Parts: sequence; structure tokens; C-alpha cells
Amino acid sequence: MEGVFGTILLIEDEESHVELIRRAFEDTGSNWEIHRVVTVREALKWLGENKSKQIFLVIADYLLPDGTGLDIANGAKSPEEVGFPLIILTSHGSEQLAVRSLKSGAMDYVVKSAESLQELPWTAERVLREWGHITERRKIEKELERYVKELEQVNRDLKEFTSTVSHDLKAPLRTIQAFSTLLMEDYADSLDETGRGYLNKIREAVERMSMQIEDLLKLSRVGRKYTELEMVDLNELLEEVKTDLSARIAERKGEVVVGELPTVTTQRVWMKELFMNLIDNGLKFNKSAKPKVEISYENSGKNYLFRVRDNGIGIEERYLDRIFNLFERLHTHEYDGTGAGLTICKKIVEELGGVIWVESKPGKGSTFCFTLPNYR
Ligand code: ADP
Repeated sequence: MEGVFGTILLIEDEESHVELIRRAFEDTGSNWEIHRVVTVREALKWLGENKSKQIFLVIADYLLPDGTGLDIANGAKSPEEVGFPLIILTSHGSEQLAVRSLKSGAMDYVVKSAESLQELPWTAERVLREWGHITERRKIEKELERYVKELEQVNRDLKEFTSTVSHDLKAPLRTIQAFSTLLMEDYADSLDETGRGYLNKIREAVERMSMQIEDLLKLSRVGRKYTELEMVDLNELLEEVKTDLSARIAERKGEVVVGELPTVTTQRVWMKELFMNLIDNGLKFNKSAKPKVEISYENSGKNYLFRVRDNGIGIEERYLDRIFNLFERLHTHEYDGTGAGLTICKKIVEELGGVIWVESKPGKGSTFCFTLPNYR
């Protein structure tokens, strides 16, 4: 019993039992201070006044002059609700009473006999140890709840921030765009070649920034809760994607080969965005005479694994993770784009409960792989 110090509130009206209990605790040589009261009323008063006591244990007789030991638990249903460790004593040992005590948040139940009262200090020690675990668990749960709340708040703030910034930035940008167009149209003659060159650079930068803002807006919209989950036949969806990409396919003289695909429960708009980006990249970052992008899938039961494979320029190993970062681009001038596409893809896949990665070797093409949970 070494090292366990504290106060026990003992609620017991029978003197002989109080004596037995005191002696049992004394015999163990422990330093328990036993505060004894006789009624429920006195007990509740003491508890009210001693809330701050670090370790205290309540041992309550079931039958008391003004009620029962369970009245101390105040209608609780678990030890956490009771708020302190409670042991119920009774001479009427019945199964029913035991169950009732435990259901009312008592941590243990002891039948009053000379023998079991002698054992009480060990029961008390065990109960306190369990109580320690409960409060520790509760503390961890509380911490976790707090973290989750904070994280949700940060997420909300971030979403709001992104869309406010994006909307507010668009207005001045439109002004710059409008006035530089006016300058170019009405005052081009007053500028020399270098001046017109500068003006063009301004217009390009503005154009680029508005595309980046559009991408930021899109990124902030991915995964919004109001985007419904629905059954999507990916064969149909990919037909649509191919139609929408027909200009790029024609320009690159490319081919998009789609194998048989499943019907999945997902967010249609974002699935389309995902495939559009990956297929477009496969055709874009491609110097082959016959650019080709192939889409296939596997079903492992728990997950679907999709592959978007191209015969393009490939990616060096050290960039395989970095290309998913926002506005990260490996070939800034050669190809059009802002560098947000793969960040959007990553967010879409993660919001849908999957992961995305790329397998690639320079000159050997790239395969973008992503998983989606199979809900069926
Ligand atoms: P963007 O296409 O607008 O440049 P992404 O976020 O889609 O932006 O891609 C980021 C970068 O990753 C690209 O600029 C390119 O360097 C590289 N990349 C993406 N897809 C491929 C691909 N299929 N093959 C080779 N490189 C790729």
C-alpha cells in the first residue's frame, strides 16, 4: 500500500462496521485519512466542500438512515459521471443490487462480512488504480476532442481565408487587366518597342495571377460537405472527359485508351476534375510521336486502385513528391499551366478517402496511381 495517501469518505451508520474498516486500513500501515459520516446529507455536504481533494475514495453503505449509498452518485450512469471512485457496501448481497450499483456508476461492490471488510484496503487500492486509468483516458479523450475542434476551426478559417483572398484579389486584378488593355489599344503608338514589351509582360503576369487565383478558389472548394456522394459510372464519365479534352487530344495527335471501369460511389464533379487533370498532363508532358494515355483499375475488395499511364517525358525521382505541391512546376516555360493541378488532384483523392502517388522514370513515361475506398 506504499505511496497511496488520501482521504476516504466513509458513509456508514453501524459503529461495529466502522471499527472493522478503520482497523483493516490501519493494519495495512497505509496513510489513509478516514472521514466518517452517517447520512447521505452529511456526505453530500462533505463532497461539496472537498471537491479539490486530490485523491479521495468514497465507501458508502447501501442502507443509510436518510437514503441509500447510491444517492451519492446523483443519478449517474458511469464512474466518469459520478466524478469520484465509489464502492458500495451492503449486507444484503444480491446480484440485483450489485448490477444496480455498477449501473449507477459505482466502481465496485463489497458484501459486508468480517472477511471482506478485512480485504477492503486492497479493493480500495485496485479501485483507485482503475480510477486512475479512467481519468487518464478521460483526459486524453478531452485533449483529443479539443484538438479536433481546433483543427476544424483552422480548416474553416483557412477555407474562408482562401475564398475571401481570392475574391478580393480578383477585383484589382481585373482593373489592371482592363487598363493595360486600354493602354495597349489606345496608346500603343506612344510607346516604343521596349515599352510595349513591358506592357505585354504586365498583361502576361496578370493573366497568370488570375489563373492562379482561380486555382486557389477551386482548391478551397474541393471536399465541401455539400458536394453530394453519388453512384458514378466511370465509363460514362471518361467518355465525357474525352469529349472535353478533344481539343488537347487533337492538338497532340494523341490517344486516350480507357479500359473497362467500375461504377463507384463518389463526388462526380471532383472525379471528373481528377481524371481531366491527370489525362491532360499525360498528353501535355509528352514528346512521343504518338502520345498515349491509358486508364485502368484493379479492385482489391477494400479499395479500388486506378492507374493513369502515359508514354510522356517522365519525372526524375527527386521530384516525385514535390510535383504535388501547390504551384510547383518542373518545366515553367515549355508547357502551359499553373502548377496547381496535381495539388487539386491530391486534395480530391484525400477528401474521398484515398491516396495518390506517381511512379515514373525520365524518358519512360509516368503512371499516376490513386486509390478510392470501395463502399460495396
Ligand atoms: P501544371 O500541369 O499546371 O504544370 P500540375 O500540378 O498538374 O501543374 O503538375 C505539376 C508539375 O508536375 C508539372 O509542371 C510537370 O512538371 C509535372 N508533371 C505533371 N504531370 C506529369 C506527367 N504526366 N509527366 C511528366 N511530368 C508531369
